[in-house]
Amino acid sequence: MKTGLRTCTCGELRAKDIGRNVTLCGWVQTTRIYPKFIFIDLRDRYGITQIACHQEKNAQAFEIAHKLGREYVLQVQGTVIERENKNPKNPTGEIEILPDFITILNTSQVPPFLIEEETDGSEELRLQYRYLDLRRKPMLKNIITRAAVVRTVRQYLDNLGFLEIETPNLIKTTPEGARDFIVPSRLHPGQFYALPQSPQLLKQTLMVGGIDRYYQICKCFRDEDFRGDRQPEFTQIDCEMAFVEQEDILQTFEGMIKTVFKEILHVELPPLPRLSYQEAIEKYGTDKPDLRFDIPIIEINSTVQGMQFPVFEQALAQKYLIAAICAPTCAQFSRKQLDKLSDMVKAPHRGCKGLVYLQYLEENNIKSSADKFLTDENKKAILKAVGAKVGDLVLIIADTASKVRKALGDLRLEVAKMQNLIPANTWSILYIVDFPLFEKDEPTGKLVSAHHPFVMPNPEDWKYLESEPEKVRALCYDMVINGNEIMSGSIRIHRPDIQRKIFDYLGLSSEEIEKKFGFLLKAFSYGAPPHGGCAFGLDRLVMLLVGAETIRDVIAFPKNSAGRDTMLDAPSFVENEFLEELGIAIKKTV
Ligand code: ASP
Repeated sequence: MKTGLRTCTCGELRAKDIGRNVTLCGWVQTTRIYPKFIFIDLRDRYGITQIACHQEKNAQAFEIAHKLGREYVLQVQGTVIERENKNPKNPTGEIEILPDFITILNTSQVPPFLIEEETDGSEELRLQYRYLDLRRKPMLKNIITRAAVVRTVRQYLDNLGFLEIETPNLIKTTPEGARDFIVPSRLHPGQFYALPQSPQLLKQTLMVGGIDRYYQICKCFRDEDFRGDRQPEFTQIDCEMAFVEQEDILQTFEGMIKTVFKEILHVELPPLPRLSYQEAIEKYGTDKPDLRFDIPIIEINSTVQGMQFPVFEQALAQKYLIAAICAPTCAQFSRKQLDKLSDMVKAPHRGCKGLVYLQYLEENNIKSSADKFLTDENKKAILKAVGAKVGDLVLIIADTASKVRKALGDLRLEVAKMQNLIPANTWSILYIVDFPLFEKDEPTGKLVSAHHPFVMPNPEDWKYLESEPEKVRALCYDMVINGNEIMSGSIRIHRPDIQRKIFDYLGLSSEEIEKKFGFLLKAFSYGAPPHGGCAFGLDRLVMLLVGAETIRDVIAFPKNSAGRDTMLDAPSFVENEFLEELGIAIKKTV
């Protein structure tokens, strides 16, 4: 790390360097002032080195050290000496620098929060002063890991003959289910580019171009409402391969994730299990199940038949699903905790009418919210059906299948969190396959693509395309890590006639098809090879690898949860003249 200004970094000197004359540069972490000594902790990206300024040994350094404030930038020239009070916690803790000369390279205002592992700064403040936040070790560690993940991915894919190719950002709409960010064109007034929601169409076009293995670590832009931990721009590891079957892609990217885990965490992953979409939904209520804990959803329709409990009777009459989860060690939940779970399932987005519970307190003491209706025998039959043990809590919902599954899927996660049932440092990594090709858009009842419209229907299900399109499975797959969708992909349609048909099913008019995807269909008409691919969410992957709580902590300059960059103050208003130049001025009304 030798440069014109420094010979060493603040993280590299050890006992073996004692006696060396060195020059270090860095920021003042702290100064500790005693009558005859001043100790400075000097920090850079690589570590912290103690500088021991001795009044008698070097008056110049001692005098300068008196003037220092936090985050001043220094150049320190001196000798590496053995430290009297060694600090085994710091890799440089055996030595210190006896300075000959200290130069203040720059002063600093007092930083608005502590630049230490644990900071007193709120996230808003940290984002506003991101350059200070990045000096903190946890942030730096995340950014370093991110770079290591990118490097590992590049090496892995390069070794397999993938070509890294940049696709443009000023393009036309890419349908990934979000709104486009659009960019006005000055040279073509009234016309707009769209920023890519993904390079989907371009990577497929690259396949037509004969590039049979492509990848790109690229920014994608999606103008979505602020829900959850999302960013309007995020990074994907985007990949595509030609002349492949689904199995080739699953194998290639299983290999990639294994390599990343090995390189970054030194964890050897076992072969990734695969679960069909149907199984995942039935057993875990979600297509991104977290299998670090074993709480499946169990259907109990046949078990509760004949029980004189109106909720069950009505549900059976309506052919609803009655299902349960067994929450281990939760029998003693308080009224308040049970009410919380009950309120959860009744929340408008889950829309269930209520929750029935059984607390298996002792062998012959089973308390239930339906005590009035259920006999002991009834309760025992349910406990048996779900495999409950003394100390467990059984939560039951009766409603339409989709509501029951969604609510129980959420409940299994909630109780796992409440009871700390998710073991630390374990990984649940699996593939979900056999997604449906279409889904019904709830408000309009129209068919929409479950993923995007370029996904190949499973040839085994083509027969249902006309009659029961919702039954058609897609050659589509996700990789799920600890309950997070981390990768998504599919085999694509490469024949223009099939692609046109799918657009048709989706209700696109011929004009729309021509306008939006004419170029793709045209490209496909020139010998498109069979192809498929996937994209990983890099931010989320790194977040999981470093154990961060939010993707903002693994992005150098993220937007805040309201989509603002508070450091740059963006988005911001622009002058009307500028808008005029772009042909989009806001007309002033008199
Ligand atoms: N373009 C897709 C996405 O962004 C990924 C893929 O199908 O390759 O989700």
